[in-house]
Amino acid sequence: MQTYRKTIQDRKPNFRGESGKLFLVRCFSCESKTGRENWAPAVASGTCAWCGWGEKGKNGVKHKKSIKKI
Ligand SMILES: [Zn+2]
Repeated sequence: MQTYRKTIQDRKPNFRGESGKLFLVRCFSCESKTGRENWAPAVASGTCAWCGWGEKGKNGVKHKKSIKKI
């Protein structure tokens, strides 16, 4: 069993596969209490489709939300 850095996303209903890969069912970066439901393709990728939270962010903790300006 591999070790991995716990993130804010390590809460149900999110889960990790055997390799420690995160399945991001709900994003707790978007909505800290209940989580924001993620898009199916994004669940497997471990990256939030809404805010862009990704496990490979700095320290798995600090994430900047991307804001598009036109
Ligand atoms: Zn998010």
